[in-house]
Amino acid sequence: MKEFNIKTIFYNPSDLKTLERSITKKTKLIFVENPGSNTFDFQDLGKIISIAKKHKILTAIDNTWGTPYFLKPIKLGFDMAIVSATKYYSGHSDVMGGSLAVNKKVFQKVKAAEKITGLRLGPDDAYLITRGLRTLDVRLDRHRENAKKIAAFLSKNKKIKLLYPFKKNSLNFRMWKKYYSGASGLMGLKIKSNNINSVRKFVNSLRLFGYGYSWGGFESLVLHQEFRETGNRKFMTLAKDEHLVRFHIGLEDPNDLIADLKQALRHLK
Ligand SMILES: *Cc1c(COP(=O)(O)O)cnc(C)c1O
Repeated sequence: MKEFNIKTIFYNPSDLKTLERSITKKTKLIFVENPGSNTFDFQDLGKIISIAKKHKILTAIDNTWGTPYFLKPIKLGFDMAIVSATKYYSGHSDVMGGSLAVNKKVFQKVKAAEKITGLRLGPDDAYLITRGLRTLDVRLDRHRENAKKIAAFLSKNKKIKLLYPFKKNSLNFRMWKKYYSGASGLMGLKIKSNNINSVRKFVNSLRLFGYGYSWGGFESLVLHQEFRETGNRKFMTLAKDEHLVRFHIGLEDPNDLIADLKQALRHLK
């Protein structure tokens, strides 16, 4: 945002004191991504809203993971909620788009900004996204059920730490449960291994998981994230023997997915 003369500061999502401490007279907006991409940390959303209200700051949330099917941010008190329509709204990984929902307080301002910037979705893209939206609830129910089964299977593996609201009474689980009515199909795996090649072999041996960066479509995907977060945004530190693998659990038969994971996990050393 530098070019717009806007300064951005990152806060630690698991320590909201760092958020409140960063607020100055100039602060205009708190932007929340929940859960955090890669880290999958779930924040205390109600607390963020009350901090913002106390300081009279606007709030926006990226609700791509939960979608309004599992989380309704405007009802919760956020002023704005964005969702990448590229993901679950379309559901077929064949179109890009996004949506913005706002409350009455900011509606006119957002409308003016939309007019000035001239951002419009093409009719063909809109067609594909509205076609996908008709089955959003049925697909998300299946993504949730499949992901739950996969999470249960993976949680038995000692080398794997699940980054997903699965383990009851963990902080992430409690924060998820407090605000969400369900969980979607995207999860992270923190894998402990001294052998990075065996992690690559595990990922590359999967037959039913495509290799892809985006997600939210009907098919299962896997991604080995070999980068390490640097700079201001460094809130998940990975040790040398820790590796991040991201899964999007699709709509396939979960038994097939588990069988595939089983054969590929043999390579993990
Ligand atoms: C993918 C993604 C985006 C960006 O969406 P695009 O439609 O691909 O530009 C934004 N936020 C989250 C959490 C995402 O996963």
